[in-house]
Amino acid sequence: MDRFDRNIKFFGIDGQRLLSASVVAIVGCGGLGQHVIQQLAYLGVKKLIVIDDEELSETNKNRYVLAWHSDPVSGLRKVDLVKRTVAMIDPGIEIAVVHASVRSAEALNALKQADTIFSCLDDDGPRFILNEFALAYSKALFDLASDTENKGALIYGGRIAYIGDDEPGCLVCMDLLDTVAVSQFLTNENARRDRNELYGVNVNELDVAGPSVVSLNGVIASHAVMEFMLQATGIRKAKRKLEYRGNMGIVAVKHEIHASDCHFCNVVRGSGDNADMTRHVKGE
Ligand SMILES: [Zn+2]
Repeated sequence: MDRFDRNIKFFGIDGQRLLSASVVAIVGCGGLGQHVIQQLAYLGVKKLIVIDDEELSETNKNRYVLAWHSDPVSGLRKVDLVKRTVAMIDPGIEIAVVHASVRSAEALNALKQADTIFSCLDDDGPRFILNEFALAYSKALFDLASDTENKGALIYGGRIAYIGDDEPGCLVCMDLLDTVAVSQFLTNENARRDRNELYGVNVNELDVAGPSVVSLNGVIASHAVMEFMLQATGIRKAKRKLEYRGNMGIVAVKHEIHASDCHFCNVVRGSGDNADMTRHVKGE
């Protein structure tokens, strides 16, 4: 326990044991997820499940702390970079990697083993699925989003939302998801093609990569891991929502109002396999 001596001075030996016994899944090993995984490994979480279907690209290297200068940018899976890093921090950590999207049976099965899920995604479609999954199987969910836009003026910040069994409300009824983006994501391939033809444009091609910097990802990820750590060790409950407004240099605690007639909170919550998450699996 020497290696965790300074941790234990913060949250006690019981806190360290609670962290060590946690099983944490991270969905999305991109800009946000990589920081989360690194910090969880240092905190002493001993069981990690990582889910990501991407490979490293050259434009990731401005912010991908798990990648080295010498890493090739073709054919290198992000889950393998995660595995390498975690093994270097602590080879005693058990890590399961799933190189697939959240819309796969493999990912959904792996998530059932977790007690906490970090959603570190770029899009609201897979966020929607994780929200439903977390409610159905009573998992704690930390949903992270960084947001940088340059529409004349540069706006930058992000948020961390916490969804748990201990309070009502979810990403849907707190209106934290873009419903158009979600329905687009959930539409099957044929319907998407039809719609693209209707509008005469490939909607996916409109999705141009925006600005992204390592320090902004680090701020959002650190706040999320902090909330998890405080809650997991019993220091205090995680905040429902934290909002980082980079332009103003502040972090605000937000009290989101949720709709009381939410299908996900009222019907899906606690329903387990009856939620039939496999309907989201691609091709089914
Ligand atoms: Zn809800």
